[in-house]
Amino acid sequence: MKNLFEIEKAQGLDDFAMRVYTSRLLGSDQDLVLHGGGNTSVKIDDILYVKGSGWDLGSIEKEGFSPARMDDLLALLKYETLSDSDMVRYQKEALTNKSAPNPSVEAILHALIPYKFVDHTHADAIVTISNTVNGEKLIEEIYGKNYLIIPYVMPGFVLAKVIGEMTQGVDWESLEGIILHNHGLFTFDNDAKKSYDKMIESVARAEEYLKENTQVVPMVYDQEVDYDLENIQKLLSTIKGYEVVVKLNHSPLARFFASQGDRSLYRKGVLTPEHIIRTKRVPVVFEVDNGKELQNYIKNYETYFDRYAKEEIMLNPAPNWAVIKGIGTISIGKNEKEVTIIDDIIMHTIKAILLGEALGGYQSISESDSFDMEYWELEQMKLKG
Ligand SMILES: [Zn+2]
Repeated sequence: MKNLFEIEKAQGLDDFAMRVYTSRLLGSDQDLVLHGGGNTSVKIDDILYVKGSGWDLGSIEKEGFSPARMDDLLALLKYETLSDSDMVRYQKEALTNKSAPNPSVEAILHALIPYKFVDHTHADAIVTISNTVNGEKLIEEIYGKNYLIIPYVMPGFVLAKVIGEMTQGVDWESLEGIILHNHGLFTFDNDAKKSYDKMIESVARAEEYLKENTQVVPMVYDQEVDYDLENIQKLLSTIKGYEVVVKLNHSPLARFFASQGDRSLYRKGVLTPEHIIRTKRVPVVFEVDNGKELQNYIKNYETYFDRYAKEEIMLNPAPNWAVIKGIGTISIGKNEKEVTIIDDIIMHTIKAILLGEALGGYQSISESDSFDMEYWELEQMKLKG
């Protein structure tokens, strides 16, 4: 993991401009965050400026940060539980500028971390190690000393509550960061550069660990790929109920993954929870009869939905990506932009699954936690925004 901080570029920047600068550095590295993932904040006087919904760290501007009164956010921690709609409403009421974007779902957590700069990413390397059968033990070995390690809980209010309770009486000065199992990490400091440096150093440790303990070398294939995408696009459009765009990826990594004998690899789930709204939990696998395989996928999705749904309305049950055995992957979306996002996410996920398997077995959040995330209204709102 490269530290991209350039002293000359940071010269003379005030706190807010520094916040924008290091946020963009984090956002420019796809191994840290992908497409709108992660969030950052800066506290100036009694105001928390936290990444607003709909903004991407890589291209964020000052207007992308929502200004919320710290006291109002912290006051929310007195509630035992808070519904999503109440949290959104209270967070909005805390804004000093009503036309600012909705604050990140992690705004309360940012407020409770007692440092000026707070950085949060979904670093691939750390999440990969956490997403394994021995993840708890390995993360403890690598980060146990100076990091607070949090078992998986839903992002948002519940996560802020848990961290609030776990840090009662904790000496924050002794902490390098907070690791969130199956999700990502937080670093913080009163100096923007130091908080950024801690992020890079933390992730570098996990990358180092992976380098020493795993090896994934996708084969190089000499044959050209010949695949009838047009037919698959038509079939998927019919199943989805609208004209879809598809993108075939037969890079060495995608093809290597698609050529694995163990089909259970394709059902391992997401890399970080919020990816689920883009990719769903699992892809369809095309091998023999695409039509039948799609029907089966939908049947399985309906069973999954019935198993966990309370009063939710089922989303489109058709897949958002496919593995074509021996060939590669296909991303399925409503436009170019969406298929690019899905393709990027699945390439990072595939790599994590292969590395996780080399570490003893990849294991993402449970099916029921996946469902909660997929049907979380605050996540679904992101797709509409
Ligand atoms: Zn997150």
